[in-house]
Amino acid sequence: MEGCIFCRIAKGEMPCNKIYEDDDVIAFLDINPINEGHTLVVPKKHFDKFSETDDQELEILIKAVKKIANAIKVAMNADGYNIGVNNERVAGQLVYHVHFHIIPRFDGDALENWKGKNVSSNELKQTCEEIKKVISFSY
Ligand code: AMP
Ligand code: ZN
Repeated sequence: MEGCIFCRIAKGEMPCNKIYEDDDVIAFLDINPINEGHTLVVPKKHFDKFSETDDQELEILIKAVKKIANAIKVAMNADGYNIGVNNERVAGQLVYHVHFHIIPRFDGDALENWKGKNVSSNELKQTCEEIKKVISFSY
């Protein structure tokens, strides 16, 4: 994909702090880490976003994410990690080449976890029905 920064990194045309590579996947440190060891796991094939990524590719990717995340946890002496995908601009996606973030977490780090909203059981039921309707005709 012409001009895509992660395609260029995957092809070795741009430098990165590479921590892992195989035939399908490359993983490198995020240049603006949220915590030390923040890593991006990127398929070598270009897909704009998670929602458009082949199922087969996702299988390969999620297995690599697990292996790399567990290694990072040990290497960084972390207490846990977050795994995230930002899908589309509203969710914070800046680079339109699908990638998983692995963010090591340390007891007492200053990162805030998401806070849940209070909603009524009726609202939850209604939301549940709206989503179920779409799933039932998509699959
Ligand atoms: P997202 O907002 O989910 O699209 O995440 C894009 C991430 O890519 C951000 O956290 C950036 O800091 C990171 N990033 C952008 N360019 C590079 C680069 N050349 N090398 C490493 N990380 C990068
Ligand atoms: Zn790309």
